[in-house]
Amino acid sequence: MRITTITNWAYGITVVLTALSGGAFILSSRSALEERAAAEQHLMLDTLAEELAVGAEMTSDEARLYVMRGEARHLNAFRADEGEERQREAAAAKLAAQMLTPAEAQALSAVDADAEALDEIERSAIDAYQRGDKAKAQGILFGPEHERFQNALLQTVAHFRDLTAARTAGELDAARARSDAWSLVAKIMLAVTGALFVAVLYFVLRRRVAMPLKRMTGIVSRLAKQDYTVEVPVDRRGDEIGEMNEAIEVFRANLIERERLDAERRADQHTKDLILQMMHRVQACQNQAELTDVIVRFAPQIFPGLAGGLYVLSEANTSLLRAGAWLEPQHSPTVFPAAECWGLRRGRSHYSSGNGSDVPCQHIDPPGVTALCVPLTAQGDMIGLLYLEEREAEALGPAGPRLYLELIAENVGLALANLQLREKLTTLAVSDPLTGLFNRRFLDETLQRHARDHRHDPLACLMIDIDHFKRFNDQFGHDAGDLVMQFVGQTLRETCAPVGNAFRFGGEEFTALLPYLEEADAADLADTLRSRIGSVTLSHTGQILGTVSVSVGVAASPAGGSVETLVTRADAALLEAKAKGRNRTVAASTLKKGLA
Ligand code: GH3
Ligand code: MG
Ligand code: MG
Repeated sequence: MRITTITNWAYGITVVLTALSGGAFILSSRSALEERAAAEQHLMLDTLAEELAVGAEMTSDEARLYVMRGEARHLNAFRADEGEERQREAAAAKLAAQMLTPAEAQALSAVDADAEALDEIERSAIDAYQRGDKAKAQGILFGPEHERFQNALLQTVAHFRDLTAARTAGELDAARARSDAWSLVAKIMLAVTGALFVAVLYFVLRRRVAMPLKRMTGIVSRLAKQDYTVEVPVDRRGDEIGEMNEAIEVFRANLIERERLDAERRADQHTKDLILQMMHRVQACQNQAELTDVIVRFAPQIFPGLAGGLYVLSEANTSLLRAGAWLEPQHSPTVFPAAECWGLRRGRSHYSSGNGSDVPCQHIDPPGVTALCVPLTAQGDMIGLLYLEEREAEALGPAGPRLYLELIAENVGLALANLQLREKLTTLAVSDPLTGLFNRRFLDETLQRHARDHRHDPLACLMIDIDHFKRFNDQFGHDAGDLVMQFVGQTLRETCAPVGNAFRFGGEEFTALLPYLEEADAADLADTLRSRIGSVTLSHTGQILGTVSVSVGVAASPAGGSVETLVTRADAALLEAKAKGRNRTVAASTLKKGLA
């Protein structure tokens, strides 16, 4: 019940009770008035009886004086008294009709009768006196009969007074009792009104206002301290406090929702910050390995619920090779044909849902796994793939990170394409197109780097020249000559690969740099090379070219001299090998005139 309803009811009841107690007071005072009226009536009747008795006595006295003295004034007084007596009797008769009980009226008429009888005797005595019979007249007025009537009158008056006294006493008692009763009712009602007022005040103020307010204050204080675990008690009461309770519940729900949105926003901002950090590093990567490293480190921080891998499309655009992975993806192999990925085929991200609502990529095993393939593209060309699978349920849900993944894929795709292009240009800049070996420029750079950073470390150098190469060109044509060059270059690369690098020095001359090899070991390697070259019979377009031989000069640093003179010393040894008849190895240290 609402507090206003309670107070309105309490107010109404208080007014009614107050009115009733007022009414009771009025009734009580009316009973008091009745009490007073009864007392007045008694007084009046008592006076009347007194007057009747006294009047009769005075009339008798005047009659007696007249018969004793014979003075006319007594006779006149007697007549006057008699007249008054008549009037009193008339008044008494009127009164009897209005307010006397039958018994009282009867007693009053007995008084009248006695008074009349007395008057009759006195009048007969006066008549006797006026006839001159003074003795008879005195005998009548002082005789026993007159006295008997006088006594009778006094008795009837006393009886009448007793009757009225008894009746008015009863009326007085009844009126007093009524007055007392109504007074008591009025007092009880006033007490009830007061008690009701106090009770309502207590109930409204303490039970319905103070206690709930105190409880709500506690709840609001805890909410203000962001303690959202506080329970707002379910209070279905329909009063103002109940409304406040509901308002606080709504307030709390709003706070919780705002906190949730804030947490989401903070998490989203954190994700964006991480993506930004990753992008900065991706832009600064020097090669594909660095880029892979950056992605493998950041991806699990950005998407902790997703395992995944970065795949790069092979040069022939046929297969995808996994360059790096994070959080141990389980359902996609390290290498698979590009055609097995719907994402790559369609050129847009493909969601392989676990519920089979769309075709899953064929490289995903088993096919029921929820995964996302986001292709990496650059200027319309496919260059790789971001593969992601769920570690936590719903991590790839509709509200998941797909938008961010596509943004990342776009940037990583461009960065990867740039790096691949750069690697291609770098390779082109340092390699020889005919043989695939490093070129002369790169040889110079390598030597300078060694001189700068490792000049005290051992480094051996081979200078190789094909013997009588001009003849091949002349005899079989330039293309055949190119083939011989490619063969020698390939054999040189394979022989040096475990220990060093091979370069095309220029024309049909080659160089090998062999770190950590001394001259003798390098000479052994040179002999191995020569025997491999000499053991193969070459042919070109069905024509037998025969075998080729090479002459090799060997030098070493720092044992044989400085790095700066390494190539010159090896070249001198090569010249010596040519001079000595070709198809042989000459060490620079064996030359008579060494260069240091
Ligand atoms: P030697 O045993 O004294 O070294 O005799 P040689 O014939 O190899 O000597 P020379 O230096 O006179 O000849 C080198 C020839 O290599 C000259 C040139 O025509 C040929 N040559 C240089 N570069 C190329 C090339 O790229 N392709 C082809 N086919 N021939 C080349
Ligand atoms: Mg030659
Ligand atoms: Mg030459």
